[in-house]
Amino acid sequence: MAGGQYFNPEKVECIRKNIASYDWAKALSKEAVDKADTLIGYGKHYWWTLPTPNELPRCLPPGHINSGCPFCGDENFLKFGSRGWIPHIVGNKWKMECKNCGGIFPSNDFKSYYESGLDELGIFRSSKADPSYLVNTLYPEKGPDYMVDDGRGYVDETNNRWSFVAFYNHYGLWANWDDDGIDGGIILSGAKKMSEAYVYTGKTIYALYCLLLLYKVALLYPDLDLNVWMRLPGRPYRNTDGFSLQGKATGRICEAILARNLCMAADAVMPVLRTHKEEAESFFSEFASVDAEQIEETIVDGLLRQVFIGVQNGSIGGNEGMYQSALAIAAVCMGECEESKKWIEWLFQDGEVIAKNDPIRVRTERKTGGN
Ligand SMILES: [Zn+2]
Repeated sequence: MAGGQYFNPEKVECIRKNIASYDWAKALSKEAVDKADTLIGYGKHYWWTLPTPNELPRCLPPGHINSGCPFCGDENFLKFGSRGWIPHIVGNKWKMECKNCGGIFPSNDFKSYYESGLDELGIFRSSKADPSYLVNTLYPEKGPDYMVDDGRGYVDETNNRWSFVAFYNHYGLWANWDDDGIDGGIILSGAKKMSEAYVYTGKTIYALYCLLLLYKVALLYPDLDLNVWMRLPGRPYRNTDGFSLQGKATGRICEAILARNLCMAADAVMPVLRTHKEEAESFFSEFASVDAEQIEETIVDGLLRQVFIGVQNGSIGGNEGMYQSALAIAAVCMGECEESKKWIEWLFQDGEVIAKNDPIRVRTERKTGGN
C-alpha cells in the first residue's frame, strides 16, 4: 500500500498536535497553507496542463555561449548571478523577465502556441501546435523572427542559442532549488506546498490538487530523458548534469532534489485515494476517467519505480547522499514489499559506476549499488 508511510498516522497526529501547541509550528503551517491557498487558486486546468513532455527541452542558463541577457548583456549576470530572471508562472505565461533591464523573452506568444498544441490528455504535442504563434510580437522593430522560440530556442547572429522557453520550462516549471517559495520551479514547489498544507490541516482539497499534479507528472516522467537534448553537438542546452549528459526533467543533480520532493509529496497525499476514493475520482473526472486504484498505480509506476531506474542509469544523480535519499523515500513511500526491500538492499550494497561511450547517447552509465 503506497503512501502514508513516512507521513504515517502517528507522525501526522504529532505534527498536528505541535501546530495546536507551539507558535513556531503554527507559523510554519500558516506559511505553507497561505502558499497552498495561492496555488490552488490557480485552478485545476493550470495544474493539469503544467507538466511538460520530453519534446520541450529544459535548460539553464538561457544562453549556451553568452551569459546574461540579450538586451543588457553581462550586467544581468554580474548583478544577479544565476538568479537574474523572473519566470511569469502566474497564468503559466511562458515568459522570462530580466531583473536588470526588464527585457522579456521569448518574443512570441509561446503560451498560446503551447495551449494550441495540447492533446486530449492536456499534453503538449508540437505536431498539433499552431505555427502562427511563432512570430515576434513584443519587439516588432527587430523583425518577425527575432527571439522567436518554438521550444528549441533562437540562434542569434553570433551562433549563440538563446533558449528562454527551455529556461522557463526548467526554472519556472520543473525546479528551482534556489527558492523555497512558490515563484518558480512550480511543479516541485507546488507539490511540496500543497502536500504540506494537507499534512498540516487535513483538508482534502490540498491533497486532491497535489494528486492531480503528481498523476500528470507520472504520465510523463518515464519518458523524460534530458540526454536527448544535452547530447546535441555544441551542447546547446546546459544543465546540472556534471558533464554526464544525464538527467530527466532536469540535469541529474537537480533531479535528485526534484525526485525526492515529488516522492515525499506522494507519500503525504496518497492516503486520500483510500479515505476519499469517490471524491478523488470525481475531482479527476473532467480530465481523466480513472478510478482511485488507477491513480495510485500510475503514480507508483510513473514516479516511484522510475526513481530506481533513474539512479541505476545515472539520470538521477548528484552528490553522495542525494540520489540515495531520493530512492530511500521512494522505497518508504512504496510501503513494505518485495520491490521496496530490493531498492533498500541496492542502496546499501557495494557498487560501482560503469560508464561507456555510446554511438547515440554519447555516454551511458550503469550504477551497480548505492554504497
Ligand atoms: Zn536585461
